[in-house]
Parts: sequence; C-alpha cells; structure tokens
Amino acid sequence: MTRRLTAAVLLAAACSRSTPGNVTLNRWKAADQEPGQWMSLGRTWKADRFSPLTKISDANAGQLGFAWEYEARSHRGRVEHGQESTPIVVDGVLYASGPWGSVFAVDARTGKEKWRHDPDVDASYNRRACCDVVSRGLSVWGGKVYVATLDGFLKALDAGSGKELWRADTFMDRDSRFYTITGPPQVAGKVVVIGNSGAEFGVRGYITAYDLETGKQAWRFFTVPGDPAKGPPENDAMKVAAKTWGPKTDWESGLGGTVWGEMTYDPDLNLLYVGTGNSTPYSGWNRDPSRGDNLYLVSILAINPDDGQMKWHYQEVPWELWDFTATANMILADLTIDGKPRKVIMQAPKDGIYYVLDRVTGQFISGKPFVFVTWTDGIDSMGRAHVSETAVYQKKPAIVFPTEAGAHNWQPMAFNPKTGLTYIPAREQGMVIADVPGYKWTKGRDNVGSAGMLGFILDLVGPADRKLFDDTFKANPKMPSPATKEVLIAWDPATQKEKWRVPTGNGDWAGGGVLTTAGNLVIQGTSSGHLIVYRADSGEKLQDITVGTAIMAAPISYEIEGEQYVAVLAGFGGAVAPVYPKEMAGYTWQNYGRILAFKLGGAKTPLPPLRSPQHTPEPPSLAFYSDTLAAQGEGIFLGTCGVCHGARGEARLSAYPDLHRLTPETHAAFDSIVLGGKLKTSGMSSFGDVLKPADVQAIHAYLLREQRTLWQEEQSKR
Ligand code: CA
Repeated sequence: MTRRLTAAVLLAAACSRSTPGNVTLNRWKAADQEPGQWMSLGRTWKADRFSPLTKISDANAGQLGFAWEYEARSHRGRVEHGQESTPIVVDGVLYASGPWGSVFAVDARTGKEKWRHDPDVDASYNRRACCDVVSRGLSVWGGKVYVATLDGFLKALDAGSGKELWRADTFMDRDSRFYTITGPPQVAGKVVVIGNSGAEFGVRGYITAYDLETGKQAWRFFTVPGDPAKGPPENDAMKVAAKTWGPKTDWESGLGGTVWGEMTYDPDLNLLYVGTGNSTPYSGWNRDPSRGDNLYLVSILAINPDDGQMKWHYQEVPWELWDFTATANMILADLTIDGKPRKVIMQAPKDGIYYVLDRVTGQFISGKPFVFVTWTDGIDSMGRAHVSETAVYQKKPAIVFPTEAGAHNWQPMAFNPKTGLTYIPAREQGMVIADVPGYKWTKGRDNVGSAGMLGFILDLVGPADRKLFDDTFKANPKMPSPATKEVLIAWDPATQKEKWRVPTGNGDWAGGGVLTTAGNLVIQGTSSGHLIVYRADSGEKLQDITVGTAIMAAPISYEIEGEQYVAVLAGFGGAVAPVYPKEMAGYTWQNYGRILAFKLGGAKTPLPPLRSPQHTPEPPSLAFYSDTLAAQGEGIFLGTCGVCHGARGEARLSAYPDLHRLTPETHAAFDSIVLGGKLKTSGMSSFGDVLKPADVQAIHAYLLREQRTLWQEEQSKR
C-alpha cells in the first residue's frame, strides 16, 4: 500500500511537471522548495522579488555576462513600445507579456521561441492609454497563461501551445469611457482578477473576478462610488465610501481610482490586496468641493476573493490632488517590530511615504518619507495623513514634492529577508502644479483638471509655463532643486530608516525595477542601457553590463540544470515615451524590445544597431499657412497631440513619430490621418470627435512653422 501510494505520488508529480505552466496552490505556497522557479511576478505569494539562489553572489558577480536574447518586438506599426513586465519561469519555460498584451513563451535555457501570441487588439485604444500600450505582466496557473489586452479582454491561453481557451470582455461603458488595461491579472482562490487604467480620461475604477476554468464573471468590485441618482451603493464598502463624497461631487468625471498595478494574494488569510489609483480630476475642488476624503482613492483594499467583499481598507492620501496612487507593488513580510512578530504588507508609492500595515487587520503600523516630501504635514498615530495647505493649488500654483511621476512608481521594489532591507527604485523630484480653471469632463480628452510641470518636461511647455515654473521655485528658496535625482534606496522597514542609497542617474527615468538575491545582490537595469549589480548589504557596485537597450522592467533569477540565470525585459516607452530622458540608450542605439538573459562566465552582450541620425525634409509651402494660425495651433498641439508626439528635433526623442519633421506625403495626407483615421490600424485613430477641421489646420500650420525652423537650422549647419 505504501509503495503503491509512493508510486502514485511520484506519478502525480511527474504529470504535473509534464503539463506546461502547471503552477498549483500547493506548489506556489511551497515556492521556496523550488528556488530555481519564478512562478509569479513577485516569485512567491509574498511577492518580495527575492531569489534564494546563491550561485551568483557578491563573490563572483563580476563574471556575470550574456547568455541569450529573444527579440520581443511588437509586430504592430512603426512604433516601438515600452517593456514593463516581469517574466515568469515554470519548469524551464520563460513566459512574458509585451505591448498590447502580447505573450512570449521561450526556452529559459536558450531563449528559443516555443510560441508567441500577438493579440488581435483594436489599435485605436492606443489613443485611450495615458502611458503607452504596455503590459505589466501575466499569470501562469494550472497549465494556463492569463493575460489582458490593452482593449479590455482578459484571456486564458494554453501554456503549452499559446492557444486561446477563453476570453472575457472586462469593460463597461466601452463606447463612452476610455478604459484600457496595462496591469497584470492576479490569481486568488478560484478566480483570476483584473483591473484597468484610464483615470486620466475620467473613468470609475473597478476590478473584476473570473472563474479560472471557464472565464465566467464571479464578481465586480468598484473602487469609488457611482452617481447616487443612478442607483444605490453596490455593497457595504460602497456605502462607507459614499459618505466621504460631498453632495456636489462631479459624478460625470468617473472619479478614477483605477487598479493598474500588481495586486497580491495571501493564501493563508485568503485576502486579495488591491492598490487603487489617482482621482479624476486631480483638482479636488472640481471633483468634490466638500473636501471629503474621497474613498477609496489612493488606498490599499483587502478583499475576500470568494465573494468580492472588502475586509479592510487603508487610504494613503485623503482628498487626492496630485496624481498620487497606491498602485506600486505591495510586499508581504513577517517582521519583528518593537519586539513583536507582525504579518505586514508594505508599499512605497508615488507619494514618497514608506507604509507598513498589519495585513490581517489593515491597522497602520508606520509610515515615513523615503524622499523629500511636502504634500503632507504628517501622519497621525491612526495612519491618517494631514494634507499640507502649501500643496493645495486651488488659488495659485503650488510646489509639491514628490511629483506625479512618483517618488516610486510601478517599477517593482524588492525585499530581501536576509538583509531585512527593501530596495526602492526611487526619484527625488519636485513639480509646480496649477489649476485649470473651468474644468468640465469631456469625452475623449485628458480630464485631469490641472497642469503639472516637472523639470524634465519644461522644453515641451510654452514660455509662459516655463516662467511660472522658474518663478515659483525662485519664490520658495527653501525648496530643494526641482531637478530629478534618481536613486536606489535600501530601506529598513522595521525601523523606517535608510541604510544606503546610490545615485542611478541624473536623467528623468533612470532606474528600472529591482531584484534581490540570497547571494547578497541587488540587480537593477537603467534607461541608459545598463544592467547593474550591487551588494545588497552595502550598495557597493559589483558589475555594470552595457546592454544598449533601456531597461524599465524588473529582473528575475532562476536555475536550470545547475546554472543560475538572471533575465529581464528591455525596451523603452511607457509614460515618458513622448519624451525620452536625455540619458536614454535610444539616443545611441535603436530601441526595440528584447528579453535578455545572463549567467556566470557569459559573453559580451550584443548591442542593438546604432540609431541613424534624423533629418528634416524641406516643408511644403501650403496656401493656408499664416504665423497667426501657427501660433494658435501651438496650444492645440500641446493640449491634444503633445501627450504622444511631444518631442521636437534631436534635442528630444519620442517613441512616436516626430510630427515636426514630416515627409511631403504625410503633409498631403494630414487631414485624412488626423480627422479621417487613415492610420488607425497602426495606433493613430481619428481625432475628429475632439478637433474641428479649423483646429487641425491650425495644428498643421504650427507644425509647418516648426519644421521650417528645424530645416533651416540643419541647412545652416551644412
Ligand atoms: Ca495617473
């Protein structure tokens, strides 16, 4: 009997390995017994992005070199998009998602493709995305790969073949609201849960759970209340939230609170942790003049995945005004704090505070700034932050630290249980933010109701805005320089103290996501195209590999046949795609997506081809042109087109075509592209709903003027 049982167990184990992507609850809970795997975005259910592997260590990291690469290019249009996902490795196969919700499955030892999934996504949704058509990851579970497409479909693919098994349409109000999906799904109990993006355009945030096997909807949970005139609160959580919104709330704006980052799931507590996003509009007086807390914006929510009911909530930023979000990755840990063991959940979001909460009850344990912070005067012992009046920009523009780009954004941080430190890819940065008077929600438009000016976008704004930025900082001499400082911070969450920090660049978006390992390592890529290895205990730099491709995503580590690998997605885009940071690798090398893997004794990393210099064609003389019209067009361009096509000339690169240097053919087709949707299949859909023909002519006149200037500059240099 015993022998037969053993045989049966062995057979079951063999079966589970022969089914590709067969992550099960038991396997995932015992992830440390299979340290060579990387079964979910954060590796284990604690999502700490810590690898127990030690073959690559502080003693030999200098020998880390190239193992293989896989070209993870988008097959759609001419535009290269950002790579933000963390790969997953199960039983020798590496799975990763890419732009639009594409999926790559490759042999994790060689990089040889097993299958790829190019979704039949509606490219017009490009226009609905604030921050590029990226995907931040997928889930592998029970032989299936779960991934969401930009245009709102959650899909289950067969992990062995990539064949689509089911798809669910996760969007409500598809025609009237600009929802997109860029976040990863999370498996929790019997369901897979997905959120969405779109708060910049004005949507009501929610997550939806689907049956793992069938894709049937199990429940939906909204993160902010709906218009009470349209129906009562959906559940108890919404009843509580509704009390924090005043009678003059601008329900039409959707209010935001979208869930676009990684969620986490504690299988022992059976709690799904969800981080919610910013408000719509940012200007709180336009959103809710009563100055309510506006639950559950910028909050961590604990939800029972069996029924979709909320167990607790913690709001980080009451009355959100600055595009702050609680969407950064959350890490679960068991810490000793003040001599007591605590089950905690930790987050270091855009607002610059490192939060430690009790993950069983949601009780606030501590919160301390990890960068220079001015939006709050302090957090009381119950965990409620007090908003600083100096950061309220209702009557005049305000300087606020950190910025809407975030002290720490979606790029995942990592926690090393051996050093007890969290490694945060952080940013010291200040902004000037101003009200946009007369805000009213408008379909198809950016609906943030404010103008935020960060140092790095100053060459995009007009002279008046630049003067406002400079004057505001001059009038506040106590404020540090608004110039961006990118840093990697090692932070002790038990004592809320910094252990070390190293600069990772003076660029605008230098530091990618982070991996830490039991080999006393911290590994991070940069937008300048380097993979850098640090000692986890001291921050000493141990290795610096030039890869020539900007890295935003987080690396992972896994082991196959005794060889330890480090792998990462490389490729630039995302929120700063319209204006690449000046240190970005793409100024030197062609930018395209690739998966890069490294091992000890590896080779020199192959660099992408050099970027060819741009040149400006001579602009045509068009009869409608006038200087007055060009001046009119500048503002319309910045407000409508600049969000993607901001860059101008060599000084700034954009992932999107530079409209200041168009070919004669594009000039001839200008109206049919902008109003007629001629290029909609490559992601440029018609703007006929928000631009009149006269507006388009004004934009065109502005572009002709700029192109003439650029062309003359180039001619004079010849
Ligand atoms: Ca946002």
